[in-house]
Amino acid sequence: MNTTRQWVREAVRIIEADFQRSADTHLIPLPLAGVPGIELYLKDESSHPTGSLKRRLARSLFLYALCNGWLKPGAPVIEASSGSTAISEAYFARLLNLPFIAVVPASTSPEKIAQIAFYGGQAHLVQDPTQIYAESERLARETGGHYLDQFTYAERATDWRANNNIAESIFQQLRFERHPVPAWLISSPGTGGTLATLGRYVRYRQHDTRVLCADAERSVFFDSYVSGDRGLTLDYGSGIEGIGRPRVEASFVPEVIDAMVKVPDALSLAAMHYLARRLGRRVGASSGTNLIGAILAGRCMLRRGERGSMVSLLCDSGERYATSYYDAGWLSAQGYALQPLIDAIEACAEHGAPLPGELPQVGLD
Ligand SMILES: *Cc1c(COP(=O)(O)O)cnc(C)c1O
Repeated sequence: MNTTRQWVREAVRIIEADFQRSADTHLIPLPLAGVPGIELYLKDESSHPTGSLKRRLARSLFLYALCNGWLKPGAPVIEASSGSTAISEAYFARLLNLPFIAVVPASTSPEKIAQIAFYGGQAHLVQDPTQIYAESERLARETGGHYLDQFTYAERATDWRANNNIAESIFQQLRFERHPVPAWLISSPGTGGTLATLGRYVRYRQHDTRVLCADAERSVFFDSYVSGDRGLTLDYGSGIEGIGRPRVEASFVPEVIDAMVKVPDALSLAAMHYLARRLGRRVGASSGTNLIGAILAGRCMLRRGERGSMVSLLCDSGERYATSYYDAGWLSAQGYALQPLIDAIEACAEHGAPLPGELPQVGLD
């Protein structure tokens, strides 16, 4: 066997050994008196060692690249990332003793950049968030490295039938619940990879479960879903870290999504603060986006006279956003006045009041 092939074998062993030492993430019930008879669970992806659901993606992308023969001993690994993916990939790169460069928008929180460095990675900042892809390609070319390209490969690098993907884990953990097959799975799109895995898995397992995608305000996914146009672009980045994209990523698979809603940033942030209070700890803003999606799915079930369960995600922890989403000065400088919205979300979640405002949505009638 040649030496690169031997190196690949050892690298796969190291990643599998890391997985063997790891535990699964918790599934936490969140009672919502405002949607009686409907049970919501939150899959706590913030409890991964590198702090987000991107742990699963990073492992899959490294295994995919290794088994494709795309990684070489000593050659840099490069990624375009708003932060969370890069943190998890830096972890795996260090495990394999490979240099890691993350190409991130300059607006990325300093906590995330510090985390990338903590795991031995290097952050390469670009001013224009839409340029992270081209810059990653250039760096890979010039360094003889490999660009992992999460936005293209997320959906295909994940083993959607099994191999402890997030969907399989959720269904295992629900086995002894009153409603073990959820009526809805709710997630928000960054790469779109998690939604692709959820949607494929419920078809493969022949469940009736529907998948709701809760998009961010400054993002093309919702409009692309409604119009079918995959060519839509924006020239600015999302306000919710981790989700919402300025272009329709290749890993976004609309065919397996049953319903979509577009959540204003202020409502996502208010829901995040409400969740932090309910859970007694901080979570990231996309978890708030997901909660709004879950409340809408729950209200849709109530209107139809259905009972059952729903599962959504806590995507990352709020510790990363201490100087932004959880900083009162930052929030007011951005023009946010969240308290009335937080109160409205509480009234909705706990007393069944409607959510404030009409959100653009499809598939929830
Ligand atoms: C990546 C990400 C998501 C969305 O997951 P995808 O599988 O990439 O669509 C949600 N929240 C956070 C914080 C993320 O980093």
